[in-house]
Amino acid sequence: MPELPEVEIVARRLGRWLVGARVTSATAPGVVTMRTFDPPLEALVGREVTGVRRAGKMPIVEFGDLAVLVHLMSAGRLGAFEGRASARDRRVRLRIGFGDGRELRLREFGTQQRAWAKLLPAAEVDADEAVATLGPEAWPVPPLDEFAALVRQPRHLHPLLRDQRTIAGIGRSWVDEILWTARLSPFRQGDDLDDDAVTALRLACDEVLGGALEHYERVVGDSLPDKAPMPLHVHARQGEPCPRCGTTLAAVFFKDHVTTYCPQEQTGGRVLKDRRLSRLLR
Ligand SMILES: [Zn+2]
Repeated sequence: MPELPEVEIVARRLGRWLVGARVTSATAPGVVTMRTFDPPLEALVGREVTGVRRAGKMPIVEFGDLAVLVHLMSAGRLGAFEGRASARDRRVRLRIGFGDGRELRLREFGTQQRAWAKLLPAAEVDADEAVATLGPEAWPVPPLDEFAALVRQPRHLHPLLRDQRTIAGIGRSWVDEILWTARLSPFRQGDDLDDDAVTALRLACDEVLGGALEHYERVVGDSLPDKAPMPLHVHARQGEPCPRCGTTLAAVFFKDHVTTYCPQEQTGGRVLKDRRLSRLLR
């Protein structure tokens, strides 16, 4: 799933390529994709792209006083292409064609239709429920006192950092990298962190997310790959040696995600076997 660095690089590139492009068509082949009906998508025709930005993990494409807010969910991708999509391409959920022949497409991989979009007055985007309920952006990271207040909650750090209402932009991949960088257990409670741990966690957010973005700026050229290789050190690399200390990385498997960590540096040498056992440990 695209997280803050992946969506930020998409927003930057789409902004670079599309600002000034004039819309000639706008349709939503995904029958459940559009969550708004008024104004209709056709209201975009004749308008120019004026900007592309991001709120948490959601891209926002602006067309003057209208804007398209997109939630990619786990398998959605937003990209610009030369030429029109084939009508038989079943991955296309939303397509906006431009006078120069290019097309902005929201595509979704897999069979489920979960990605969604809203066409809203640009001035109302930040008040939309999906945006208004987001916590502060994880990058650039909030000041220390604000960050400390956000994370000092009686919850495990792993779900806490992935909770978009607490802090926006971090998902299943980057949370592992951030906790590994800060040398903190995914099962530490937020309100159990001393000042040094909060400082380390905040620095890790900034370093890891900012570093990923710098990486994408270097490697993403004139086209956006559907799945840019993520510069991950530990996530989903259980069984491999920790790049820092050489200890074999371990993982806890949940129903729909995996948490990878270094037992030596993050959990005091303890290998957590499963979710029930992990609940006993911090
Ligand atoms: Zn290690």
